[in-house]
Amino acid sequence: MKIARTIAELPRFPDSVGLVPTMGAFHAGHLALFEAAREENEAVVASLFVNPAQFGQGEDLDRYPRDEDRDAKLAEEAGVDVLFTPSAGEMYPEGFSTWVDVGELGQRLEGEFRAGHFRGVATVCLKLFNIVKPSRAYFGQKDAQQAAVIKQLVRDLNLDLEIRVVPTVRDGDGLALSSRNAYLSPDEREQALALPRALATGDSTKARELLAGLDVDYVEEANFNGQRVLAAAVHVGKTRLIDNVILEGENK
Ligand code: AMP
Repeated sequence: MKIARTIAELPRFPDSVGLVPTMGAFHAGHLALFEAAREENEAVVASLFVNPAQFGQGEDLDRYPRDEDRDAKLAEEAGVDVLFTPSAGEMYPEGFSTWVDVGELGQRLEGEFRAGHFRGVATVCLKLFNIVKPSRAYFGQKDAQQAAVIKQLVRDLNLDLEIRVVPTVRDGDGLALSSRNAYLSPDEREQALALPRALATGDSTKARELLAGLDVDYVEEANFNGQRVLAAAVHVGKTRLIDNVILEGENK
C-alpha cells in the first residue's frame, strides 16, 4: 500500500477507482467500506483527513483520536491500495476561499446542532472527488444525513461518480461503531446503549422516553432522498454520539 501525503504523490489509476473518505481511527465500520470498494473497483483509495472545516468551535477537533500507523496497517490488510493523508495546508492552502453551500438539507438535524458542519463535509468531499477522480465513493449509513448531503451534491453539481451507502456496523451490544466510542468510559458506554435501544423501537415518541436520562440534541424521523429514518444525537458525558435506523425505503 502506498501512503500519499500530497496530491502530487497520488498515483494515476487507469481503471476504476473506489474512494473511501475517512477521518481515521479505523474500526470495522471503515473496514466494511473498504471491503465494498474492493469488490467493485480495480483500485481502492482511502483518504485519512481530520477535516478542520467540519468541526465547530468547542468541538473535539483537537482530541479526535489519531493513530496513523495503526490505520495504515489496517487499511493495508483490508486491501486499500493508496492511503491519502494530506495535511490541512495541502487541502486548504493559504488563500483558500471557495465553499459548497449545501442548502436546506444541511441546516436540519446535524446541521442545526453543528452549524457549518455540512458545508465543511461537502467542500472536502468535492475536493477529494476532484483530486482522486473516483468512479465510486463509499459512505456509511451510520451518517445517513451526510450520505444524503453527498448524494445531493453529486446530483446538483453534475458530478461524474456513483455514491454507495454501506449498512451500519454495530458492536455485539448494538452500539454503532464510531471512532468517538473511544472517548467513552465503561460507565458511559453502558449509558450509551440507550441510543441503539431507543432507535430500535422505530418510534420517535418511545425513543424519546428511552433517552430521557441523556442529554438529547434531537430524536426525529427524517426523510433522506426518499428513505425514512429515525435519527438521534445524544451527549454521553463529553461525547456526542449519533445513530439512526432505517424505517422504510432506500436513500436514492
Ligand atoms: P469517519 O471516519 O467517522 O468520518 O467515517 C468515515 C466513513 O465511515 C463515513 O462514511 C461513515 O459514515 C462511515 N462509518 C462510520 N462508522 C460506521 C459504522 N459503524 N458503520 C458503517 N459505516 C460507518
